[in-house]
Amino acid sequence: MTLHAGSPVAGCPQDLWREPDRDERALWEEARVVAARAYAPYSGFHVGAVVSAGAGLSYCGVNVENASYPVGLCAERAALAAAVAAGERRFAALAVATADGRDAAPCGACLQALGEFGDLEIVAQVGDEVRVAPLRALLTTPFQAPEAPRA
Ligand SMILES: [Zn+2]
Repeated sequence: MTLHAGSPVAGCPQDLWREPDRDERALWEEARVVAARAYAPYSGFHVGAVVSAGAGLSYCGVNVENASYPVGLCAERAALAAAVAAGERRFAALAVATADGRDAAPCGACLQALGEFGDLEIVAQVGDEVRVAPLRALLTTPFQAPEAPRA
């Protein structure tokens, strides 16, 4: 199925995704470049992600597959881990792209992981077009710990 901008999809609000601005598109282009470095010998699905943080800094990640499939890591969480390891805690946007131009949006696990740090814009290829949506629109009811985090 090909989804075109503005075309309705059953169960999806038509205005969920919007056009990216210049910075968001540039972030997505970075993710597409990074995707070439993915380790995906099992699926051949090479994914890159770039998360933008404060002071114009951004951090990248790729999917890292494993012979034990559940051990594999998504590009989005790899980028998040790199950013958190650098001391970042607040993010403006995360872009995800594939090396071969196939659609890719964050999975539920990655949305939950990103949501730990608050809302941010998700830049992804949806229906052959680069689009942007707030994380909170994609993950409306994240799991939350019963106690406040101690970070
Ligand atoms: Zn994921």
